[in-house]
Amino acid sequence: MHEIIINLHMHTPYSDGYENHDAIAQAAIRSKLDAIIITDHNVLVTGKDCLFHDGEKSVLVLIGEEIHDQSRQPQKSHLLVFGVDRELATLATDIKLLVETVRKLNGLAFIAHPYDPESKAVGEDDISWDDWDITSMNGIELWNGMSEFKSRLKTKLHAFYYAYFPARIARGPFPLILSKWDGLLSQGQRITAIGGSDAHGLRILYGPFRRVIFPYEWHFRGINTHLLLPAPLQGSLNEDRQMIYEALKQGHAFIGYDLPASTTGFRFSAKGREGVNWMGDEINSQGGVTLQIRLPQASECHLIHNGKDIQQWDKHEICTYITTQPGAYRVEVYKHFQGQRRGWIFSNPIYITK
Ligand SMILES: [Zn+2]
Ligand SMILES: [Zn+2]
Repeated sequence: MHEIIINLHMHTPYSDGYENHDAIAQAAIRSKLDAIIITDHNVLVTGKDCLFHDGEKSVLVLIGEEIHDQSRQPQKSHLLVFGVDRELATLATDIKLLVETVRKLNGLAFIAHPYDPESKAVGEDDISWDDWDITSMNGIELWNGMSEFKSRLKTKLHAFYYAYFPARIARGPFPLILSKWDGLLSQGQRITAIGGSDAHGLRILYGPFRRVIFPYEWHFRGINTHLLLPAPLQGSLNEDRQMIYEALKQGHAFIGYDLPASTTGFRFSAKGREGVNWMGDEINSQGGVTLQIRLPQASECHLIHNGKDIQQWDKHEICTYITTQPGAYRVEVYKHFQGQRRGWIFSNPIYITK
């Protein structure tokens, strides 16, 4: 397996972001990302997919879209769409149809910022996901950096404080969303979790002060999605794009908050009678299954089975658990950083079947 780092939710001036595609790609190269997916609101910007080069270095730039119904008030239920080369924003008034169409076209549909509460202090509405009855999703953006920021804005001063101390924001996915995800997994649904920055390069104005809060580059060193690919990236737009979308589809991925320490090297695998399987895979429980977790650094690690925290390890780099119980198993890892316990790694599930 070959690990790559991707940041997959961001905006340009085609919607409400501040930097153009090239500047964002350069920021991605400086941040050592392998790939980015740019997802402007309700517009599929064509012709911008590329292997972007800056001297010797390169980054794969893919184009997706974030779609929502702009006539809805408040403008809830944003959907991230990847791997579709047609404009589907016209279907936004019927989200079920939109998701079905994405799937029919072999694209990927992920719930964007599932919980994104109102912030009266900065005049922002609640734009959480509000269509949980739709079951044909590929996955969910479990951890969205901007939702978490927004949830802290009790007053305008908070916005200014966090603009200067952005490393103090991220603590982990909202518990509400973790339990919602666990609920869906316990029902037997396969829901892939991704982490997104929702980078805009936002500006903030407060009296005489103005500041770019969260430049793209800062986001790219924070909450990322790590993908496990069957082969290294080839340096070819079409092949690499296909490999990335396939990994997202299979859930061969984990969310890593790379600011406190790099999460590269994390692995969660299952060994059974049929061989070794990875996050996102199914494995049969017959004869027992050995789950193995490998952490990049010894840290606080939890194994979750159908929403229940069944085992914890502290200061281990390798954690092992043997089971015959079917269900969805996933891993959460926490780390202390800047005086707070923070979410560091959230794996996708391994699905153990009967
Ligand atoms: Zn959104
Ligand atoms: Zn967005």
